[in-house]
Amino acid sequence: MVPSILSLGYHAYRVIPVTVEVHLLPGTLGMQIIGLADSALKESRERIRSALLNSGYSFPVKQITVNLLPADIKKEGGQLELAVLTGILVANGEISPGILENHIFLGSLSLDGSVRDTPRLVSALLHAAKYEKRIAVIPAEAADMAAGIPGLRFRTLQAVEELPRLNELEIFTGKEQPVPLTGTEITFDQLLGMEREKKALALAVAGRHHALIMGEPGTGKTALITAASSLAPPLTTKEKLESSEFYSLAENSTFLIQAAPFRSPHHTSSDAAVIGGGAKPRPGEVTLAHNGFLFLDELIQFQTRTLQALREPLENRIVHIARAQEKVTYPADFTLLAASNPCQCGNLFSRSATCSCSPTKQMSGLNKISGPFLDRISIELDVQKQPVLQPASKSHTWYREKVLEVDERIRSRNGKRGNNSLNRAQLMEQLRGRTEHKLLEDLSQYFSLSQRGQIGTMQVARTLADWNRKDTIGEECLEEAFQYRSIRLLIRSVFSRAA
Ligand SMILES: [Zn+2]
Repeated sequence: MVPSILSLGYHAYRVIPVTVEVHLLPGTLGMQIIGLADSALKESRERIRSALLNSGYSFPVKQITVNLLPADIKKEGGQLELAVLTGILVANGEISPGILENHIFLGSLSLDGSVRDTPRLVSALLHAAKYEKRIAVIPAEAADMAAGIPGLRFRTLQAVEELPRLNELEIFTGKEQPVPLTGTEITFDQLLGMEREKKALALAVAGRHHALIMGEPGTGKTALITAASSLAPPLTTKEKLESSEFYSLAENSTFLIQAAPFRSPHHTSSDAAVIGGGAKPRPGEVTLAHNGFLFLDELIQFQTRTLQALREPLENRIVHIARAQEKVTYPADFTLLAASNPCQCGNLFSRSATCSCSPTKQMSGLNKISGPFLDRISIELDVQKQPVLQPASKSHTWYREKVLEVDERIRSRNGKRGNNSLNRAQLMEQLRGRTEHKLLEDLSQYFSLSQRGQIGTMQVARTLADWNRKDTIGEECLEEAFQYRSIRLLIRSVFSRAA
């Protein structure tokens, strides 16, 4: 019998099931690994041999051929070593094949035969939890991490000499761990006034609308966005696991994500770093921000090609990365929270200060974001320096509770988070009456909204209706939603001055 052992490897930053088959053939002493293993895995032959010998097993005096299936996909992952060693022991009759059927083997080996943790193992464990009928065999070092993965059944190994009595080892089951409370440093309470901006960002978080704030330096744009991100509702278990998988694969993280991710790539980041890609396709910031927020500060300073490439994930919430050899799709369901000065000196939209930039400079920044990019933003907001700052009438806690309430309302109606995926027909149906239809038409024309931009604004109006606990979208919600379209008007006036 040729033993076949289930393990999990990686391909293009995804976890893939790998079946290990071990053939013992008469012939010279040696071992070859076939089936598109990466070079690191080929180098594990010596470790496997040494681990066997140092654990009191014999090394078969035969030609060992290890076949990794599926044969046509390149695989990586040091945690396949335990499966290969187990296969050799079964093929050589040292342990019973009975243990293979209901287990998944995950772990790398050291020369002395101990079973070791590997980078990115957390993503493989998250994947292993999906096999209801199998128990993961994992390094004892990874036990704490595994204990936090709901539904994962596992046994732990210190060393390969425990393999023959695997069926006697205790079975543990992972459970959701209580979330440690982490207070963010900045809350709305530290920011005086700015009621309009706070509400707009709270709407963005609750309805998952992409938002952009622009204004002169010193208006607190970054603080507003950082504080707004802490209004996010808690992640569901499914969201936590999804996000953890990509963090583990791309960043070698060894922890489980507990709260909505907040990613803030610098404007000098390459488009591969932001979007994903590179010689070996890897997920970018947009995928690490999945289920959370992508914060782009100084938006107009990002490269034009990065902003262009962002259009796909902004709209479709996934990202396709095409390489010469293959195409990869990663999730990218994030909420964009962007901030920017409108120009180099920062005063272009100011009501109190004068911009000192040349018209060409003014236009070059705005050109990057006007049109197709701005079309995909649903909340545009200019912020002004406020002469007298009033204490806020509503607390951070008030906003947080409001966001939770709106999120629940949306989820019970749409069956998922956010109003950002509602289509035109669904939104039109929810307009209250003829007055609203007419108002939508007039305002869309005045604000020069494309079809796509109009849908975005109606989605925001839907979130406002949820905020006001209304079943349909009324006049007042539509009007307010259009108030969050102020940047396009300011851009228009800059362009018409220049013309
Ligand atoms: Zn300026």
